[in-house]
Parts: sequence; structure tokens; C-alpha cells
Amino acid sequence: MTVAPHFQFQNDTLHAEQLALNRLADEFGTPLYVYSRQALRDAWESYRVAGEGRKLLVCYGMKANSNLAVLQEFARLGTGFDIVSGGELARVIAAGGDPGKVVFSGVGKQVWEIEAALQAGVKCFNIESEAELERVAQVAARLNRIAPISLRVNPDVDARTHPYISTGLKDNKFGVPIEDAPRIYARAQQLPSLNIVGVDCHIGSQITEVSPYLDALDKLIKLILTLKDQGVDLHHLDLGGGLGIRYTDETLITPTDLLSKVFVALDAHGLGHLEIVLEPGRSMVGNAGVLLTRVEYLKHGETKNFAIIDAAMNDLIRPTLYDAWHSVEAVQPRAVTADTPKYDLVGPICESGDWLARDRQLALEQGDLLAIMSAGAYAFTMASQYNTRPRAAEVLVDGDQVHVIRPRETLDSLFASERLLP
Ligand SMILES: *Cc1c(COP(=O)(O)O)cnc(C)c1O
Repeated sequence: MTVAPHFQFQNDTLHAEQLALNRLADEFGTPLYVYSRQALRDAWESYRVAGEGRKLLVCYGMKANSNLAVLQEFARLGTGFDIVSGGELARVIAAGGDPGKVVFSGVGKQVWEIEAALQAGVKCFNIESEAELERVAQVAARLNRIAPISLRVNPDVDARTHPYISTGLKDNKFGVPIEDAPRIYARAQQLPSLNIVGVDCHIGSQITEVSPYLDALDKLIKLILTLKDQGVDLHHLDLGGGLGIRYTDETLITPTDLLSKVFVALDAHGLGHLEIVLEPGRSMVGNAGVLLTRVEYLKHGETKNFAIIDAAMNDLIRPTLYDAWHSVEAVQPRAVTADTPKYDLVGPICESGDWLARDRQLALEQGDLLAIMSAGAYAFTMASQYNTRPRAAEVLVDGDQVHVIRPRETLDSLFASERLLP
């Protein structure tokens, strides 16, 4: 068994659903991102069942994977979207998503982005500072619109995850301190171009326990009750994203684990009528994708062995950026013995930080195909063209069919918009 249910071995060859990955590599070349459509559907289903009988809106945190085909699939299933830029809003619209189900997060919303979101009619601005509150109010007044808003509060809870992906602690740049929220809501009440609709938080990513969410929820419930006394009646409570996925052997929490406890806590305080919004990113797509790569060279040294592969940090920066661990599967594994060496899997980029996995015992030969697992989230969306490497193609497998959802970039396209001096 691999970490990803829709990428399993059949006849000793790793498949994406019903298609052998070596066939996809032959047809489309490597490196190649391969996604499973069924994995997207299953991820959505796990949230849908968790909210059955309740008002739940899943706003997919699209920065995890914003390919139009992925957005289109989720939009058809009924999700909304959590966006963090005007660019992401344009993608939602291009993919046929409903702007009325979009929540707009992010600490640095520019005027043009606020205008675009008002014109599109987003569900809510998740306001991250007092200055932003004033700006949104001004822009809305100028456009003769009412901006629906929620305040992103920082509940100061430790999500016990990597520091770079923990966002709910006091010293993070995100949101406003929860103690300040009543005063900022009071200010919002005075601004006629604003409509207060909710409150939100997002405490971090790759969270594998329910308790940090419940700690945050406790504080949010207190705030909601305080606001009620202040004459602010909220329509929704947005608990953000952050549910973890299996990269190796993590025990996970499911949407049902989380929401069943959330509903109990809300009901206990007479808040069962609130619509719940979630903003899951990674857990919707992370194990719906792999990065397929070929071994170019093996380099055996005195203290280290390197497998130099054709994927690199520009295709998957998580190991370099977060010290992240991705499991690696040989597409057609060879027998491993006690003598099989351990390899660092490194790319061709001229940086010592260009590694995708370290100290992996793998029986390898030049030309072998490897799948870097769990590459559906924060992989392509963080990809760059560093070293003038075209970004890899993305394909989506549906049963025994495959769709190219983004062709490999051509060399010409990399610098087609650059200009020589006169
Ligand atoms: C990144 C982000 C998400 C998605 O987080 P995941 O850990 O991928 O689920 C949700 N909400 C906000 C505000 C974010 O910045």
C-alpha cells in the first residue's frame, strides 16, 4: 500500500487509477504531475458527508492546486473557493466557479483586487487588519456597493505544526488579535458600506489533531456571544483549512472527526444555526497527485549516494522550504536487499538545497521511473522556471482515460515576453 489510495500497484507497476505510470511517462515525458479525478471526488465526499444535515460550505483553499480543471471539478461538485488574490478570483471565474461562494483571504489585498471581488459579488472578505477594514469600506462606498465582511481573528493557539505553516499564533502576520475583535467589529458597525456576516480563523496547515481546532473554537464561541450582546448577529463561522494528509504514516483526523465535535460545541451554546465554512486546501488535493520523475544518473560517493533525477526544487519546493518528507515509490520496483544503498534524490538545479528526498533505500538503475508521492498540493502552484526549466505538464487520470490539463511549457514560451534592448 502506498500513502495515496488512488495510486496503487497492479502487476508490480504503480498505477494512477487504471493507468500504469510508465505508460504516462512514455506518452507525456517527465517530470510530470499526475492527478486522480476520483481522489478529488473522494476528498470532497469526505467533507460533504461530515456536513450532512447541517449548513456547511466548503471553500476549497485553491492555492494548494489551482489548475482550472481541478477548480472546475470542485465547482461542479458544489464547492466554493477560498482565494488569496485577484488572480485566484480570475481563475475561479474562468473555471466556471460561483463567485457567490468565494471567501477572500489574505493580508495584502490591493485596491484593484477589492474592486474585482466586489464586482464579482464574492460571499465575504476575510478582513485581516483594521487598515484593510477601512480600505474595503472606502472602495465599496466609492463603487456604491455593500461589502460582506468577516474578521479573521488570531485565536493564539498552537496548531503544533511546522513554524512556516502555523498561522494562529500571536506573532503571526495573519488576522487580528482576538481581544481586539469586539472593538474592530464595533468600528465595522459604523461603516454603512460594510455588512458584517461572519468571523473566521485559520490556525495552520497539516494539522493532525482536533484539539487545536477546538481550542480556537472555544475562543470564537466566546467572541460570538460577546458580539451578540454588542448587537452583531453573525451568519457564518469560518474555521479555515489545515487538515493534514498522509505523507508517511501520520494518523489523521477526518472532516467528520472535526465537524462532529464542532457541532456539539456550537449546539451547547445555542449556536447550531450558524453556517460553517471550511477552507480545506491540502486535504482536498494532496494525495490526489504524484510527481513522476526519471533517474538521469547515479553517483556513488564515499559518504553519500546521489540519484540525480529530472525533477527538481523548481517542481516541488516543499522539501527545501519546509524540510518536508515525501514518500518515494519506484514505478517498477526492483528487489531491495541489505546491500541496497541509500540515496539522496537530487535535481539538476545549481543549488545544494535542490533535493526532493534524502537517505532513501531504493534499488535503482539509470532510467528508472520514480513517483514522488503526495504532490497534489503546494507542488505545481509553487513551481517556478528557475534555471530556465519549463514547468512540467499536468495530466489528470479518470479511470482508464487521461486528460492533459496543462501541457509542458515550451522553451520559447519561457522568454517569449522578454525584450531585447534597442
Ligand atoms: C492556505 C490557506 C488555507 C488552506 O490551508 P490547507 O492547510 O491547505 O488546508 C485555508 N485558508 C487560508 C486563509 C489559507 O491561507
